[in-house]
Amino acid sequence: MPDTLRRSIGWLTAIRIVVLSLILLSAILVQAGAGIHIEITFLYALFAAAVLLALFHWTVGRYLAPRISAYIQLLADVGIATVLVYSSGGPDSVFNFLYLVVIGASGFLLYRTGAVIVATVAAILYGAMVQLMAYGVLPPPPLAPVSEWSTARIRFNLAITVAGFYGVAFMVSYLSEKLLAARVELELRQRALQRLQTLYGNVIATMSSGLMTTDADQRITFLNRAGGDLLGVDPGAAPGRPIAEFGFAFPDEWTEIRSRARGRETYRGELDIDWKSSRRVLGFSLRVLKESDGEEEGTLILFQDLTEIKKLERRARFNEQLAAVGELAAGIAHEIRNPLASISGSVQVLSKDLSVGSAEKRLMEIIVSESNRLSKILEDFLRFVRPQERRVAEFDMAVNLSEVMDLFRLSDEVSDGHKIEVDVAPASSQLSGDRDQIRQIVYNVAKNAVRAMAAGGSLRVVGREDDAWYSIRFIDTGRGMSEEELARLFTPFSTAFDGGTGLGMAIVRRIVEDHGGAIDAESIPGEGTTVTVLLPRRALASEIGNREPVAAPLIEPWPVRDHRTGAA
Ligand code: ADP
Ligand code: MG
Repeated sequence: MPDTLRRSIGWLTAIRIVVLSLILLSAILVQAGAGIHIEITFLYALFAAAVLLALFHWTVGRYLAPRISAYIQLLADVGIATVLVYSSGGPDSVFNFLYLVVIGASGFLLYRTGAVIVATVAAILYGAMVQLMAYGVLPPPPLAPVSEWSTARIRFNLAITVAGFYGVAFMVSYLSEKLLAARVELELRQRALQRLQTLYGNVIATMSSGLMTTDADQRITFLNRAGGDLLGVDPGAAPGRPIAEFGFAFPDEWTEIRSRARGRETYRGELDIDWKSSRRVLGFSLRVLKESDGEEEGTLILFQDLTEIKKLERRARFNEQLAAVGELAAGIAHEIRNPLASISGSVQVLSKDLSVGSAEKRLMEIIVSESNRLSKILEDFLRFVRPQERRVAEFDMAVNLSEVMDLFRLSDEVSDGHKIEVDVAPASSQLSGDRDQIRQIVYNVAKNAVRAMAAGGSLRVVGREDDAWYSIRFIDTGRGMSEEELARLFTPFSTAFDGGTGLGMAIVRRIVEDHGGAIDAESIPGEGTTVTVLLPRRALASEIGNREPVAAPLIEPWPVRDHRTGAA
């Protein structure tokens, strides 16, 4: 406020100069036009005084408090007005109104106190001037003849004038105080509004959920930063574009969605969107926005990326089932193992007895071989539910992959009808993990491939590396899997192979995830299956085996149905 006051005083000094120069100019013109001589020296003096006051304001006034400066200028104005009024006829003067102007200005600039002080000074000066003129103390004014006034008339004139002074002082200062209060109130409200706007802006900008508003025609009107990140677009470029462009294809009709999201209702759902060549699951909630007049307008959509949560959910559900079943089954398996060993041992001893006939011997052999098979299942199972200790070391994955496949070629799973091709590049590739367990992965997956090609076929094993991952792809031309089979691929005990335990892939998946890797399978019934294993090359030794399994980013660890459509 002091600055505005100072500026107003500046204007006051300027206006004063203009008014005085106009008066001076018209006096000069009158003098020249009418050819009469008027004494106007005092007008020059007043003009000079106005200029000096302006100079004073711009020099010394800078260092004064604006209020003091204003008092000086306004009181000087009262003085100037008195000189003008006196010289143009005292109470008869046409310039009497100047007092009111000055008092009015004081009311505006200095409010009530200032206006009353200025009005009082004006009243004293005016009263003194009129009295002194009436008593003839002051010489007759230079510009106009003085009319003879009666004492009563002079008193009446003084009373009216002074009343006028105070009237203007109170009226103007009242108005200007009101104005000031209104201005202060307005400023407070503006500041509150601004603060609210900043708050909203900050909340929307920093929230981690995507926030989007659209008009009634599904065109984006606003997208926040997190939303832009989720959708992989520049939030600034989104407004005006249809939401379908960003993968928002709703299961229901737009009008139906909007009618369901009226009032307090929220429409919720999930969306699959293709995001930067990977599939994301978005959870969203949608509401119809109301304008302040109650008219329904745009739509507000809040959305989050649920992809990771979904993966975790699936894994948690799987682990839960596993834990429950595993605990129970592991106990039983353990209990079965010992009696089984006794049975098989006893029968073996009995079969050595020479008195047993050949038919009985065959039966005993069946008991022994079936017991062995059963014990193998139990072993597999126990390995699955109670993983052995992991020995993590750096080893050459490329060499190991080739070695395991060489051994595998020799196993009795493989027959002449099987063509096995191993394509490993580069020929050497370091990886840290449990070498034996990883060899077991390769063996298990390769064995499944060959078993799926009972009538022969070809298996291609491709090993590749990049900076962070080693990938192994097993591509077979076997019988493939139906959707349901594929979905149960990693489920323990689900098997379609003769003599299978249904634990192979479950163990494989467990090892892969314990290493922080990922596994995925694609299959077309009757044509073949591709299993992809991804292993991180630099797993931290301390992490392996005692961390929550974390999915590698490139493939889904759990078979995703839609992957297959693009397969083979
Ligand atoms: P198992 O080999 O003991 O049956 P797995 O967990 O290794 O158990 O495999 C589970 C099931 O998945 C198999 O029984 C088979 O039905 C199916 N499967 C696995 N790999 C393949 C493959 N390469 N081709 C076709 N089916 C397969
Ligand atoms: Mg198997």
